[in-house]
Order: sequence, then structure tokens, then C-alpha cells
Amino acid sequence: MNSYWISSTEKMKKIHFNKIDQNYITDMCVIGGGITGLSTAYYLSKKGLKVIVLDKSEIGTKTSGHTTAKITLNHGLIYNYLINTFGIDFASKYYLSNKQAISNIKKIIDSENINCDFEYQDNYIYTTNENNVFKLNNEIESINSIENYLTKNTNFNLKISSINPQFVQKCGLPFKISGAIKTSDQAQFHPVKYMYGLANSINSNGGLIFTNSLVTDIRKTDNKYEVSVNDYKINAKYVVLASHYPFINFPGFYFSKMNQVTSYAIGIEINNNTLNGMYITDSEPTLSFRTTKLDNNKRLLIIGGGNHKCGFSPESKDVFATGFNKWGMTMSNVSANIISDCILGKENVFFDVYNSKRLQPIKKRRSKK
Ligand SMILES: Cc1cc2nc3c(=O)[nH]c(=O)nc-3n(C[C@H](O)[C@H](O)[C@H](O)COP(=O)(O)OP(=O)(O)OC[C@H]3O[C@@H](n4cnc5c(N)ncnc54)[C@H](O)[C@@H]3O)c2cc1C
Repeated sequence: MNSYWISSTEKMKKIHFNKIDQNYITDMCVIGGGITGLSTAYYLSKKGLKVIVLDKSEIGTKTSGHTTAKITLNHGLIYNYLINTFGIDFASKYYLSNKQAISNIKKIIDSENINCDFEYQDNYIYTTNENNVFKLNNEIESINSIENYLTKNTNFNLKISSINPQFVQKCGLPFKISGAIKTSDQAQFHPVKYMYGLANSINSNGGLIFTNSLVTDIRKTDNKYEVSVNDYKINAKYVVLASHYPFINFPGFYFSKMNQVTSYAIGIEINNNTLNGMYITDSEPTLSFRTTKLDNNKRLLIIGGGNHKCGFSPESKDVFATGFNKWGMTMSNVSANIISDCILGKENVFFDVYNSKRLQPIKKRRSKK
């Protein structure tokens, strides 16, 4: 099955990536050319590090090329859950990191001139079950208390613009709902055009991207890493594993902490130009909707559904970026910033929230698309 995101960018691929053809010595080796690997490589190449990105396939053609690409901090009904499970400080950091990710993505798009159909949108979490309406109200209360906490908490020293969570009875969907939470200043884009923009910038910053280059092993030798890729070796000071699912077992044994689930998205051309906004159900089974404009003035309705579970963990110099619970559009930017700060020796206030060694996974429950 073709991905609209991939097929609609065939003609715009100005840069051609080659297979790796020799050994290299570099500062940083990023394994995986999806949105996570490219975002991390983008930030570090901008800071002047020598960066090499390796992908076993073509960039942006795996999960990040098959996503619904909503850029939102409303990851299902998560804030009430986070406050009750981890407390207000933790929940507020989760909120803030994802809010900053939305503006970071917009900053990258503007500063790098990436034409990727970025649009601000309202986000709706809706329910068709009258009995779940109280959950929506609890979530609105939770978002309000997080925004109050962040505004009053001097540690953050921030003036938070509210996402205006509101309970609405209609949200533009052509079927009856029992209610929805509407939030503003969320966004959507064309993920593959965005990833090509990142790749262009990485190249301009002197980074190298190799495709059809399969990493089979990573070994620590002295204080460096030796990455085996096709028939070659890369010696790197730092390695970031952004392969979506960690393909090495040690350190971390992440395979034993993760479960993989497949989910699906389909696109249908529609004449209705009024269906804007981004939509997701409040509970399982999840349905997720958004539209994107097509060249013929029609819109493509993208419907996602199905299931999955997936943090990152700095272990000295080797870093894993995974575990986004299917919210990798913002979380890839959050993790890219945390990893870059770790490598550059800078403190990052969100580190503890996403450290995969935290005792409990962030989300044990739903919100899968
Ligand atoms: C149907 C669906 C809808 C979704 N909707 C949303 C949404 O609306 N909003 C949102 O925030 N998130 C959404 N997500 C989740 C989001 O798409 C993912 O979290 C994100 O794309 C993960 O990006 P990644 O870079 O970590 O992984 P990938 O994009 O999978 O990139 C990993 C890369 O690593 C490469 N690789 C793997 N192994 C090796 C190896 N051994 N050697 C070299 N390269 C290797 C792969 O080829 C691949 O290119 C959705 C996901 C799905 C499936």
C-alpha cells in the first residue's frame, strides 16, 4: 500500500542519498533517518558537530512516512492521568515539553524555509459515549491546573499562552457526538516534506546522510563506538539509536520493556472543504482524523486507527530515542532537544520525565492511533 506522504514527494526529492562507501570517523552517528533521527541530527549539526545519519532504507519511509502527522500536545486524555499518577510537576513538564516542541517545529520550518504544508489547527478529543463526558471535563480541569501551575511556578519563569480547552457539543464531524474537548494552537504538516527539509539542512551544515545502509552492530572500543554498517565501520564519539524499535539488546534490554503494535491509516479524497481540525476518540478503539489539501483543490481525509506502545535513555554516550506511544511528531523534537543537550553537556529540565529508567512507563493506558 502506498503512503500519500511518500508518493506526493517523489518529484521534490532534490537530494540523492548514497549508500555508505567507506569507513568514517565522526563526532556523532545517528542510526535511523525518520523524524527522530533527522531532528536530532539537525540540532547537533547546527551546533557544529560532525554528524552521520544512517538508514537501512530511504529517509522518512518507515513509521514517519505513514503517520497522520498531527503535531499536538493533546495525546489523548493524558493530563488527568499524568497528574493522578505522577503529580502536577511531572504532568506540567510533559505538557510544556510538547508545547515547546510545536513552536520548535514551527521555528525550524521558518528558519530553514521548509515548505511542508504546516497549518495551525484546532484539536478535538471527542466521545460518542455519554458516560465518558465526565472524563472530558476532568481533562479540561487538568489542563487548566497545569497551565495555572506553569504560570505561577517561578522555576519555569514563563508566561504560558493557554490552549483554551473548552467543552463543545459539536466539532464539525458528520455524525453525532456526546461532546468533545477543543484546544487551539495545535498543528499538522506533511511529514515527509518536513523530513526532506531537515535532511537538506543537515547536508548544508556539513552532515552526511547514507541510505540503504544497514547497521548490524554497535561496539564500544576504548571511549568510542564502532558501528558496523554494510561492509564498513564508523567510529563515533556518540551514537544515537533512532531506529524506532531498538535492534540491539544491550545496554537497556529495551526489547523486553516494549511491545510492538501495528496500526493503520488510510486516505480518502473528499469534496468537503469544510472539515478542518484534527480529531481523535477519547477511548479504544481509537479513530483519528485529519485532512490535508490536495493539488486539485480537494482534500484528503486521513483516517487512522489500530494500536501500539513505544522514552529514550542516555546510557553514558549511547542514546536511545524511542517509546513515543505513537506521538512522535512532537516527541521526536522533545527527545532531539534532550539528547542534544545531554551531548552538549547542557541541563535539560525535561530529562527526568522521559528517562526510560523512570520507574513507571508514562502511559499504561490508551491513546493509540
Ligand atoms: C498510523 C499512525 C498514525 C500516527 N499518527 C501520529 C500523529 O498524528 N501524531 C504523532 O505525533 N505521531 C503519530 N504517529 C506516531 C509517529 O508517526 C511515530 O512516533 C514517529 O514517526 C516515529 O518516528 P521515528 O523516527 O522514531 O521512527 P521511523 O520513522 O520508523 O524511523 C526509524 C528509521 O530507522 C531506520 N532503521 C531501523 N533499523 C535500522 C538499522 N538497523 N540500520 C539503519 N537504519 C535502521 C528505518 O529504516 C527508519 O527509517 C502515528 C503512527 C502511526 C503508525
